[in-house]
This record gives sequence, C-alpha cells and structure tokens, in this order.
Amino acid sequence: MHLRISCPPTVSPCFYGVDTPTGAELIASNHNVEEIRRFVEADSLGYLSLGSLRKAVADDRHEYCYACYTGDYPTELVNIEELISARQKRH
Ligand code: SF4
Repeated sequence: MHLRISCPPTVSPCFYGVDTPTGAELIASNHNVEEIRRFVEADSLGYLSLGSLRKAVADDRHEYCYACYTGDYPTELVNIEELISARQKRH
C-alpha cells in the first residue's frame, strides 16, 4: 500500500474551530514520516509539502493560516477556561 496525504503532516491542534485532537494525540507532532509509515504499515508514505499547499491555493501573499502544519499561530492564543474562571471569581 502506498499512501499519499494531500496536506503537510498535522503537528499542532487547531484553535480556530476545527475539531482536532490534542497535540499529544497527533501522531505527526512527535513522530517523523518514516515512523508514521511504519505505524500505518504502508509501503510508502508521502505528504504534500507546505510550499506545494501554498502554491495549490495560490497563497502568494502568505495570507492563510497553516498553524496546524507549522505550530506557528497567526494570533495570540488564550486559555478560555482560565478566562472564565477568572471572570467567575470577580463576580
Ligand atoms: S489551517 Fe489554521 S484554521 Fe485551518 S485547521 Fe489548521 S490551524 Fe485551524
């Protein structure tokens, strides 16, 4: 079996609305492609590169989010549970 994935490896969770597993649960966050290939028992495994993905969506100005592939989030992240807890303590 030869497996091709039409995006880069997902290394970080999405905090913008896509229901992804935690970082620890994402196999690509702590395993390389060869380790993943062995885990899924494929003869070969290939991912689309980030550069090719950007090219495919014509993102010449690097306007799109790729955080789940890079871990580089375009906004500051906040812990909503801490915010709610702090707000509840104030009231
Ligand atoms: S590209 Fe950004 S918004 Fe889209 S799933 Fe990944 S982290 Fe979420």
